[in-house]
Amino acid sequence: MEKYRLGEMTWPEIKTIIEEGERIAIVPTATYEDHGHHLPIDTDVLLCTEVCERAAARIPDEVVLVPPIIHGYSPHHMDFPGTISIDGHTYIEYVKNVVNSLMHAGFTKILLVNGHGSNTPFNDVAARLAIVENKGKALCASVCYWATGPIKNVVSQLRESETGGMGHACEFETSLYLALKPEFVQMDKAVKDMNRHTTPHFWIDLIGGGTGAMSAVSLMEWWSSFSETGTFGDATLATKEKGEAFLEASIQGIIDVVREYAERPIPPRVDHRPQKGKEISL
Ligand SMILES: [Zn+2]
Repeated sequence: MEKYRLGEMTWPEIKTIIEEGERIAIVPTATYEDHGHHLPIDTDVLLCTEVCERAAARIPDEVVLVPPIIHGYSPHHMDFPGTISIDGHTYIEYVKNVVNSLMHAGFTKILLVNGHGSNTPFNDVAARLAIVENKGKALCASVCYWATGPIKNVVSQLRESETGGMGHACEFETSLYLALKPEFVQMDKAVKDMNRHTTPHFWIDLIGGGTGAMSAVSLMEWWSSFSETGTFGDATLATKEKGEAFLEASIQGIIDVVREYAERPIPPRVDHRPQKGKEISL
């Protein structure tokens, strides 16, 4: 059986894998924070790590699954007990250091797979900084597991809520949790909580609205200022069946991303500066 979890490998095995050919190193990222009265605070961690684990298990000789970064950026959730938040600059540096370590070992393609919305811009920055610090010799890409083609297709077929119904602890995340660990979902406490001021350019929805686009304006207010329960969306519409379809599409989406990324060349940079400028390395 092909090993794919980094933590279960010895260092000579990791060395051999790097020497033998290119595997994509997958780094899941998430956070611990409130998810309504009906879901545990580990929702983002569970959903993201399960999607990554199941995707990696299906293509074990194409990836190395790195242990997840389980604490993320959630200061706007700190009014709800149980939330653990890492300062934004610290988080970026931490993620970048994990990526740099993998690049230092010899991995040339790293994929950050995110499961917590507010990590998204920080993962993008960490990935870009790592590429720049490594002079473009290795790549780091970032994606949210709910943002791929397959999941958008399945959600557009199955969703019952309007835009905003798939924000947080919502129709989407609750369905996924029901598919994975139904014994921890308290559906009798699930609610529709969508009392945030929403207009055509200001809305929150993981999967997007009818057009599939994200809100044109990026704005994150304190979560407790618009959500009474910690939910944003319509959790009452969640079902295990939808969750199973969302899970399968999320797994397939990550596999698709891995394979496109694997095919992607890393063309060398071309330094067009005159000789004088070449003394300075950027
Ligand atoms: Zn979540």
